Amino acid sequence: MTLRCLLVDFNSYFASVEQQLCPELRGRPVGVVPMLADTTCCIAASYEAKAFGVKTGTQVAEARRLCPGIVFVVARHAEYVQIHHRAVAVVDTIAPVEQALSIDEMACSLPMGWTSRERATQLALRLKTALREALGECLRVSVGIAPNVFLAKQASNLQKPDGLVVLDSTDLPGPLLRMQLTDLTGINVRMLARLQAQGIHSVEHLWRARREQLRVVWGGMAGEAFYDRLHGLASGVQAANPRRSLGHSHVLPPEMRSAEGALAVLDRLTQKAAMRLRREHLLAGAMTVMLKLTRRHGERLRPERGARFAPTADTRALLHTLRELWPGMVPAGWAPMKVAMLLHDLRQPGQTSASLFEGDVPGSAAEQAALWSAVDALNVRYGRHTIYCGSGHQGREEAPMRIAFNHIPDLETEG
Ligand SMILES: [Mg+2]
Repeated sequence: MTLRCLLVDFNSYFASVEQQLCPELRGRPVGVVPMLADTTCCIAASYEAKAFGVKTGTQVAEARRLCPGIVFVVARHAEYVQIHHRAVAVVDTIAPVEQALSIDEMACSLPMGWTSRERATQLALRLKTALREALGECLRVSVGIAPNVFLAKQASNLQKPDGLVVLDSTDLPGPLLRMQLTDLTGINVRMLARLQAQGIHSVEHLWRARREQLRVVWGGMAGEAFYDRLHGLASGVQAANPRRSLGHSHVLPPEMRSAEGALAVLDRLTQKAAMRLRREHLLAGAMTVMLKLTRRHGERLRPERGARFAPTADTRALLHTLRELWPGMVPAGWAPMKVAMLLHDLRQPGQTSASLFEGDVPGSAAEQAALWSAVDALNVRYGRHTIYCGSGHQGREEAPMRIAFNHIPDLETEG
């Protein structure tokens, strides 16, 4: 089991960027919010705020109660993206960046000759110094070094902030046993229930489970792949995470908290997502729409609907699906606070056969592709609101650049 992957994870990234850019925020508890409103929640918290129990997702009012001295700043996504690109460039001079896993995480392969524990550690220390010199003292990182991306990610989670942890065969499962199952990448609440149904209640049980058992839990090959990643049998950096979904979410400002407002924003998000699909030469075969609703006494509802369809990157076909899913999603008396749409079942055009049912959308597949590439080119050339489907008109100002979980915004399509 050789060390092959070095993973860099920025600590409290958005809040650290703010502290770097605004020296008056340094050493103070900071909450980064999408807008200044008591009903919104923190999308990031500085280490000083985390010490008071403020986390990503903590409501502003609650954060103020936990930490009376907290300073709220409105997120500046364009800054975060720019610094991300600078960080990638710096890291890349030291270890080749194979994949940016998110805005604040990148996976590198260890160069030849640097795969021993000592040498890899030296490289990580050099990298920390280079990042500090290039970006500033507030931007600290936790580095994980392991045989594959999955283990390197767990290693980077073991020590924060400013961590450096190596995990190889002599260390395993050691420190992993202190973790909860849901701390492991790829184990969400749904997967936890399936593991528990198989008698797997801890990371130790999971470590001792046989490969076939995990195959049963995951319902297929994915279980065996997980077994290999966990035990360090799958090695390298490239194997991880081909893009499996693409989407956007948006916290609605007060004036858009109606069914019509929410739909208009979803319409814009769908148009943006479609443009990204085309830029990445992908087709989507499924869509999920998720809402966060509230009612007078603070009750919450999270409706979610999905549909499958013939793989497409056509904006009109995707908008058509959105409108089929929509009716009844916002029951009377409820106010939408947040909307999200996700395109999944992504594939490359060659992996699919043409749809036999294109009746909804006029023109041949080739004509549609030509139309959308012209639209995309005009929007890149003249700005993002040059041409769009009229159905999204009301929401046009409400889908600015956002940073989703696993997506680095492309300044060209989203700027
Ligand atoms: Mg991070």
